[in-house]
Amino acid sequence: MLVEACREKGIDAVAVMDHDVIEGAFEFARLSGEAVARGEWAPRILVGEEVRTTGGEICGLFLREWVPDHLSPVETMDIIRSQGGLVYVPHPFDLLKLKRLKASELKALADRIDIIEAFNGKPRLPLANVLARRFLDRNAGFPAGAGSDSHEPTHLGAAYVEMEEFEGPEDLLEKLPRGTVHGKLYSPLASALVRVRIRREKKALERAQVSS
Ligand SMILES: [Zn+2]
Repeated sequence: MLVEACREKGIDAVAVMDHDVIEGAFEFARLSGEAVARGEWAPRILVGEEVRTTGGEICGLFLREWVPDHLSPVETMDIIRSQGGLVYVPHPFDLLKLKRLKASELKALADRIDIIEAFNGKPRLPLANVLARRFLDRNAGFPAGAGSDSHEPTHLGAAYVEMEEFEGPEDLLEKLPRGTVHGKLYSPLASALVRVRIRREKKALERAQVSS
């Protein structure tokens, strides 16, 4: 479903960042590589993880291994960086989240942060995207990213960055500032309905596997 969603929406590269787990991202990357080897189209997968820290959620991109959750933001960022990964701060101004890095903390952690999300597609608090953009405009030096925050395939690509082809983390960082952030919020109701449908289909599949 994810490959099909990427193909339909013209998403060439997608970061898979599950909450506190990484196996799915590795599996998707493996399957994608196998499909390409067979001559089929598949998106490029950036293996990542959205890690819950004591100071809110922090994403790692280009990870080689799992990053433990519930550490401090600094510890988490250091673990991500020690793997050669990039530190990506998602939905930075989602004021509805009690635990999050404040603007002053983002500035203080500038040396450890590689990318800040300028647009998040999840319709929690639309104002958050306005505040994120304003922060990025006022604080040059943080490349802007975009995340669909899609928890199911239909909203994949709701937010994305249009940019040059890149190879690896350093190249991405170099080219990202010349990219263009695109994004729209998706409907929370439609999203919930799709998730219910997927859950039902999964259960039916599991039942079929058990009975066969
Ligand atoms: Zn999040």
